[in-house]
Amino acid sequence: MPDTQANFSCANCAIGGCAMGDSARYPGFCPTANSSQELVDGVTKRYTGSRKDHKMALVAASIESDYYGRATRVEESLLFVKKMGYKKIGVASCVGLLAECNTFAKIARAKGIEVYGVGCKVGSVDKTVIGIPDESKFAPGSHEAMCNPILQAELLNREGTDFNFIMGLCLGHDTLFIKHSKAPVSVLVVKDRVLCHNPAAALYTTGTYYRRLLGPDLPEPVHCG
Ligand code: SF4
Repeated sequence: MPDTQANFSCANCAIGGCAMGDSARYPGFCPTANSSQELVDGVTKRYTGSRKDHKMALVAASIESDYYGRATRVEESLLFVKKMGYKKIGVASCVGLLAECNTFAKIARAKGIEVYGVGCKVGSVDKTVIGIPDESKFAPGSHEAMCNPILQAELLNREGTDFNFIMGLCLGHDTLFIKHSKAPVSVLVVKDRVLCHNPAAALYTTGTYYRRLLGPDLPEPVHCG
């Protein structure tokens, strides 16, 4: 759908005047300029209305302030766990990233944090059981386990983890995991099989290598087998 002024949003803003409260730099479609004060105040009160949400917002802000540009995301993640007072974390990992999951667990345990990881193929349920066509498998006719993010969430729920990290789950499987996890969730690694799990690389290069992304077409499917 082409952009028109009527559907402009922050996704059309190149200024970000809201960061400094600079109302002279709010564009006409700006949600800061156009939201009622009542709405903004009502939402702001929700941070202090919930002890847990308030603590999370304060801890997140303190990490940004104290470690800006110094702590890697791995370090920020574990700082967050420590400062929140969480004792046991879960990792919902892609089986393709088990080595990275092992390393993250080792790093966390070195800081006194208990870790329980669950790989995405847990349960080893064949893909066809939930209606994925056999011909969609990498090797049709063979047993091929489906990704099972709901079982990952259920096992971590039963382990009583305080906080869960996603380690490279597929798009959509990550959504199901977040939906079914009782503990709050953050993403340590976001899956991008083409760009070494760095989807921002495509956004940085739409002026050069990934110019095609700005066109209307998406890649054609290719059969896996
Ligand atoms: S709230 Fe306004 S100033 Fe801030 S990013 Fe959105 S459009 Fe830009």
